[in-house]
Amino acid sequence: MAIMVTGGAGYIGSHTVAELLARGEEVVVVDNLQQGHRQAVLGGKLYEGDLRDQVFLDKVFQENKIEAVIHFAANSLVGESMKLPGKYYHNNVYGTLCLLEKMNEYGVGKIVFSSTAATYGEPENVPIQETDRTLPTNAYGETKLAMEKMMKWFDTAHGIKYVSLRYFNAAGAHESGKIGEDHNPETHLIPLILQVPLGQRSHITVFGNDYATSDGTCVRDYIHVSDLADAHVLAVEKLRRGEDSGIYNLGSGNGFSVNEVIEVARQVTGHPIPAVMEQRRAGDPAVLIASSERARAELGWQPKRDKLENIIASAWAWHQANPHGYAKA
Ligand code: UDP
Repeated sequence: MAIMVTGGAGYIGSHTVAELLARGEEVVVVDNLQQGHRQAVLGGKLYEGDLRDQVFLDKVFQENKIEAVIHFAANSLVGESMKLPGKYYHNNVYGTLCLLEKMNEYGVGKIVFSSTAATYGEPENVPIQETDRTLPTNAYGETKLAMEKMMKWFDTAHGIKYVSLRYFNAAGAHESGKIGEDHNPETHLIPLILQVPLGQRSHITVFGNDYATSDGTCVRDYIHVSDLADAHVLAVEKLRRGEDSGIYNLGSGNGFSVNEVIEVARQVTGHPIPAVMEQRRAGDPAVLIASSERARAELGWQPKRDKLENIIASAWAWHQANPHGYAKA
């Protein structure tokens, strides 16, 4: 039986596909290739199409025996979601509804979900625990929370068991050097910083230095994408054991300010990387740091690549070898 990975051609999806393949799993990737890259899919069967297309989804479920779904396919940019909330509700929320309806129709009872720290909004506590209040400050986080709640009710009504993984800030690249981060447009801090030593931008812009943090810039918890990938495999194993649904934070438990990330990148690349202060970006909470104790205890998750120097070094290796990402020129 196969594991269906929606959004498996995207950044975290492709790293999870690589991990599943390394463990000998049969993989079916479903991706509309709006953000994903065909070359990022290192194996398995790739179906190009959209979850909101019922005919397409029927074909995938009919042609494969699906044991479980790992669901990444979604739009995921905080800033864009504040300008185009409808796009996020349509693709993320309606797309997930279509997927869950089909899973129910075809009797697929396990789903691992790509969620986010953005479901919490401005945190009540640092580090954030899964039991803390969820009050998203942006439309992206609101749609991810709606997707989680939808899964809860499909579990209650139809017994579809879910594991929701709330990521903090994914970064880095696969150790093979074959896959890495390539978004278009790129909006994430670490790849944007690395564009400076690559000669693709003159400086990095820092969005706000008047937050209530030690140096005034936002603090985030950066976690290696391959450590995130590991957690998805462990989540599938939890569901295979017949355990109940659950929600887990995935982070390192360490926070770095934007200025600190830039400083580590200067050390890793040996480039001065000029930084220019700008206004705050809409929807950004000041501090997001995870408590991942529950994931460690219940999934047996152990992040192995959690030093920021190593995370940035792996990203730097990928970007140096692939300065234009998956595009050839
Ligand atoms: N950030 C920044 N300059 C940039 C891109 C991001 O200062 O050019 C900040 C952003 O405001 C946030 C942090 O870096 O505080 C991480 O942003 P990213 O978009 O990478 O991830 P997010 O936390 O939104 O998931």
